[in-house]
Amino acid sequence: MPETHHSKVIQFCPKCGSNDFPPDSERSFKCRNCGFHFFINSAAAVAALVFNAKGELLFTRRAIMPNKGKLDLPGGFIDPGESAEEALKRELKEELGVNVVSLEYFTSAPNEYVFSGYSIFTLDLAFIVVPESLEGLVAMDDISGFEFIRPSDVDFNDLPAFSMQYFVKEAGRRL
Ligand SMILES: [Zn+2]
Repeated sequence: MPETHHSKVIQFCPKCGSNDFPPDSERSFKCRNCGFHFFINSAAAVAALVFNAKGELLFTRRAIMPNKGKLDLPGGFIDPGESAEEALKRELKEELGVNVVSLEYFTSAPNEYVFSGYSIFTLDLAFIVVPESLEGLVAMDDISGFEFIRPSDVDFNDLPAFSMQYFVKEAGRRL
């Protein structure tokens, strides 16, 4: 198991603080002191496929770890209580100032995202997004820039997330 795996990182019960908190299965823990049962689930996240008139896809440059300086698709984690569509609209507005006219579900892929020395398992949902306009985009929030690249021209060494690589391949093949 990598050092970032939950079985290595999580040592105390989040409810009572006991250190008698062993794994109960591959993806759960059970506290021997208070009985609290804690499950590791996939966190849901969204990614936007936004094409310009030349058939190029909109990518962002990450301003934060992990993979700082590398390419990403616009998007991010879905907040508790939020729908995937709401999350996508919020992220596009926060990261690039883009207003969404319409969006359509495309496909999904799992990913593993290491943050603060801890593996977070995500389910990334990709949507095809029609923006109100691609004029006057601004890089904000957790991105440092953006660029348009044809799916077939993307260097996957510059796009580390497996799920994003899958979305770009599928977009190049199907769209
Ligand atoms: Zn406990």
